[in-house]
Amino acid sequence: MQFKGQILKMSSVLGNPINYYLNLSGDLISMNQLFGKNLHLKHVGYQCVNCGKDEKIYRMGFCKKCFFESPYASDTILKPELSTAHLGIEERDLEVEKEIQLQPHIVYLAYTGDVKVGVTRETQVPTRWIDQGATFALPIARTENRYEAGVIEVELKKHLADKTNWRKMLQDDRESEVDLLDFRNQIADLFPKDSKNFALASEEIVKLDFPYEAPTKITSFTLDTKPEFEGVLKGIKGQYLYFNDGDFINVRSHEGYVIELDIS
Ligand SMILES: [Zn+2]
Repeated sequence: MQFKGQILKMSSVLGNPINYYLNLSGDLISMNQLFGKNLHLKHVGYQCVNCGKDEKIYRMGFCKKCFFESPYASDTILKPELSTAHLGIEERDLEVEKEIQLQPHIVYLAYTGDVKVGVTRETQVPTRWIDQGATFALPIARTENRYEAGVIEVELKKHLADKTNWRKMLQDDRESEVDLLDFRNQIADLFPKDSKNFALASEEIVKLDFPYEAPTKITSFTLDTKPEFEGVLKGIKGQYLYFNDGDFINVRSHEGYVIELDIS
């Protein structure tokens, strides 16, 4: 079988285990059915997720121009506390920013090899956790907009990690147990005073079951360093495809790359 298209982040469906679908220009390829199969990837071009041009991807699927101009690549995507749509203040495009920011957000704890704190739109639960490769997640606050969630995150990340260490995430085996409820109780006092009313106290831990078992050796490659790659697909965690010999590729960081995929 051969496919060709623009990479977007993998879609997923919660289950035991999680089901993954590679998204190539809208064609969804069921990846769980490809475990044990030989995949041949070849980088053949680019297609910016915003303008569609064959320009080198700069970050997050955007060409350089779109990364610095599109409201979908604004600073508030990575730093929710900079959000200003709730004040009616435009950064790049107020209508788009209102749509993204003025909706319920969740502040959560996730275990990705470390306990980290994060923010996501409520509609992105549990997708966000699957994308990060979190084996456990726990919502700890629900806010009305992105800014309010960002304020809580800023305070909590003084005490907890806020970035995923991809190597630790991939090394984490199924055996590790971590009590996020205990963490939630420990950090309850760290909430900013004006944010305490957003706290959630009775949520349950969500456990995520990835089609993955950690190998002893973990190396990652990109299509920049290896424009052509061939390997047997063994598992998936987060947005990482795991091939025999411990080779990993982060699908999400290749959004906007156009590839040919051969499956045999
Ligand atoms: Zn572009």
